[in-house]
Amino acid sequence: MSDARDVVIVGSGPAGLTAAIYTARANLHPVVIEGIGAGGQLMLTTEVENYPGFPDGIMGPELMTHFRAQAERFGAEFITADADAVRLESPFTVSVGPDTYSGRSMIISTGARAQMLGLPSESQLLGHGVSTCATCDGFFFRDVPIAVVGGGDSAIEEANFLTRFASKVTVVHRRKELRASKIMQDRAFANPKIEFAWNSEVIDIIGDGKVTGTRLRDTETGMEREIPVSAVFMAIGHIPNTALFEGKLTLDDAGYILTEPGSTRTNVPGVFAAGDVQDHVYRQAITAAGSGCMAALEAERYIDSLGAH
Ligand code: NAP
Repeated sequence: MSDARDVVIVGSGPAGLTAAIYTARANLHPVVIEGIGAGGQLMLTTEVENYPGFPDGIMGPELMTHFRAQAERFGAEFITADADAVRLESPFTVSVGPDTYSGRSMIISTGARAQMLGLPSESQLLGHGVSTCATCDGFFFRDVPIAVVGGGDSAIEEANFLTRFASKVTVVHRRKELRASKIMQDRAFANPKIEFAWNSEVIDIIGDGKVTGTRLRDTETGMEREIPVSAVFMAIGHIPNTALFEGKLTLDDAGYILTEPGSTRTNVPGVFAAGDVQDHVYRQAITAAGSGCMAALEAERYIDSLGAH
């Protein structure tokens, strides 16, 4: 059992690490349960062109390395393991294997994760041509045809990015209109390497050890067809990482943590939530970082309100 401290932060994307920078600089000695897959969703992204301060862009993983180094510089402690359980009664505790970390306040920044279709072939071929990460895996699929599933900004962004490598990218979308923003759509429509399979759902991913194709069903006619691809990238949305908090915090219908408007306060005093785990509207690195800063300042005020240690 570690000593109780002022702040325990669960999660290490832009929200958690910004909260760590601020609380460390405020001398609150935060411990960050950063998870095995530390760094959050930016670890799975390509170039980030819209994070202020980097006029030439920066790769997502590199940006997160900077965030972490900055928090470490001010004394934040990191536990590179997943949280197994939490107790949301003061002192708030996080169990990590045999260890327990407790704090007078807690900042939750566990983010969200990629949604999958749920096909057996999808999980069998994950890492062998099925991917949720264009940045990580696009490089492996040079001069071959690939598919991207989804019709939102993520799918179109990934499709555009993947044309750097692939001979052709087929966007498989279950409707005949994209959900993606107009500017992203225009970019994709103008890209000669991108084709669209409209009104199509993926019913199987084919391959023995590696992906060789995918089977599609037309949602209107029911007709099935197979397209030869060497990779299938999933880009069909995200699920908030809130399983640890079910029944302990108020969540919305989609499972995101509810916070008071204009604040990171949850329904439990002393417990704050920042980043994508409580935001399915903006979902940007900069908004996550901003709410991580808010959570740090709110945790600091909360601790002050408790009086002397
Ligand atoms: P999204 O906007 O929720 O889009 C998910 C897409 O996947 C939709 O087209 C949806 O189809 C499809 N889909 C969902 N479940 C499916 C299933 N089971 N089978 C087949 N298709 C399925 O998710 P997102 O693209 O990840 O974007 C999330 C948020 O981040 C959005 O607000 C987006 O604007 C933002 N974002 C912004 C940028 C950027 O500005 N650079 C980049 C990425 C994401 P339907 O359309 O039929 O529902």
